[in-house]
Amino acid sequence: MESHDYMSLGGDKAFTKHISPGETLLMSFKVIKFNKRNKAQERTIALTTAGILNLKGKKLQRRMEYEILSGITRSRNGDEFILHCATEYDYRFSSPLKDQAIQTMSKAFRDITGRTLYLWETNEINLKDLTTTKNDKKKGVSRIPAPENAVNFRNNNIGQEESKDTRGKRSRTIFAAQDNSTSVTLDDFTILKVLGRGSFGKVMLVQKKDNQKLYAMKSLRKDALLEREQVEHTRTEKLILEHINHPFLVRLEYAFTNPAKIYFVMEFMKGGELFFHLKEARKFSEDRARFYGAQIGLGLAHLHEQNIVYRDLKPENIIMDEFGNVYLTDFGMAKFLPEGGSTQSFVGTPEYLAPEVIACQGHNGTADWWSFGVLLYEMMVGIPPFYNQNVQLMYELIQHGDLRFPQRTPLSQPAQDIITRLLDRDPTRRLGARSFDDIKNHAFFASINWDLLLQKKLPTPFTPRITNVLSAENFDTEFTSEEAINSVVPEHRLRMVMQNQEQFNDF
Ligand code: AMP
Repeated sequence: MESHDYMSLGGDKAFTKHISPGETLLMSFKVIKFNKRNKAQERTIALTTAGILNLKGKKLQRRMEYEILSGITRSRNGDEFILHCATEYDYRFSSPLKDQAIQTMSKAFRDITGRTLYLWETNEINLKDLTTTKNDKKKGVSRIPAPENAVNFRNNNIGQEESKDTRGKRSRTIFAAQDNSTSVTLDDFTILKVLGRGSFGKVMLVQKKDNQKLYAMKSLRKDALLEREQVEHTRTEKLILEHINHPFLVRLEYAFTNPAKIYFVMEFMKGGELFFHLKEARKFSEDRARFYGAQIGLGLAHLHEQNIVYRDLKPENIIMDEFGNVYLTDFGMAKFLPEGGSTQSFVGTPEYLAPEVIACQGHNGTADWWSFGVLLYEMMVGIPPFYNQNVQLMYELIQHGDLRFPQRTPLSQPAQDIITRLLDRDPTRRLGARSFDDIKNHAFFASINWDLLLQKKLPTPFTPRITNVLSAENFDTEFTSEEAINSVVPEHRLRMVMQNQEQFNDF
């Protein structure tokens, strides 16, 4: 890439000492940076092949790697632009060279991550109200727009090279978090065991041939997705997996497609499903439930910050690593909601559905906090609160039944209180409706050090038994005893897929 070193930093030792040997300067330019008090400060920005350096004169103020960027908002009518950063806070700048800078960052971001950097556009000239400040972040407020509102959402107008039709190739990489220089295909993995089944395919334990690392590979049959109109949900699942990076949300390592299937390769969570451990223990102690609840709460809140509702919280979708930390997996039901928006669709698992979802009244992220209340109850009591074998009756109980706690071995007062507040049938009054802080600050979680938890520095209450990693002993034998093969899709079904293959073009 050509260098546009407008500030002549290239040969200057005071600058080059801040960059590593393999790193190249792509562009340097003057900007106005707005600080948290909206004060304009003159700064120099250096864009390199690895990151963004913010300099005061020649002094490095801070450095940001491209990976942490969530996207960029640009003003169509002015010089301002925002670098959105979900894990920290946003940076608001102004420069007449902004478009050239955005192009440079987008290209470098793609080279580093293999992903398209989201670009949002606005007619506003002053972007102050679109910037997430440090203070907003503290209050749990995020102003980062939804990915689906990005101008390059799906059609990848920055990454033209990706949209070239590669049909005819056996399979192609659509995402590689670790190493985007090579194409990954099914042939790169040895299939070892079946770990579980979702609605549209199975999850298998696989080993990558070159590095011997173990992964969980989810395969989704395109014919089943088409038949049950799930292509859009899977597209959302892929987008979420690609763009979410959080300690308690499962990470995608690779994704690729072939004519018949879509494959997501994730970190292998050796501890298995929380459901498996809950069945084994029948119920958890309050301390143990508190720990899992806190980790999952942080994961859910992070999704909400990105305007994503999860919609299918249950112990089957929570998986455990070898140390006993838990993660949300399966984003097949999740949905992007525009700020303040709601959805009508009736999805989820009966036991965990919020009353407003059953009543089709329109719901938002608060419905996840209802399910979170159900999860806490099930972990501490052993069954979900309104459980009935008759699903219609269960819906009736969820909407109108009394919430009852066991009498013989009563839960503590804080446990009963947090569950009661989460299971408030009025979603506007429900705990979590205003902010996740209300949940964090509840007496039930008083003993949790949230900062240490987020860094995975708290001792886990339980360590799963792992004597032989390859035997997947923390997974149900119902699955692990199945023959581990990549099943062949019948010819007539494949023809149906081929006729609709354009629906999978952007995968
Ligand atoms: P899903 O279709 O995503 O719900 O996955 C089905 C099942 O596969 C889960 O309930 C888990 O038992 C298992 N599974 C999914 N992802 C992983 C993973 N990353 N590591 C280990 N097991 C997993």
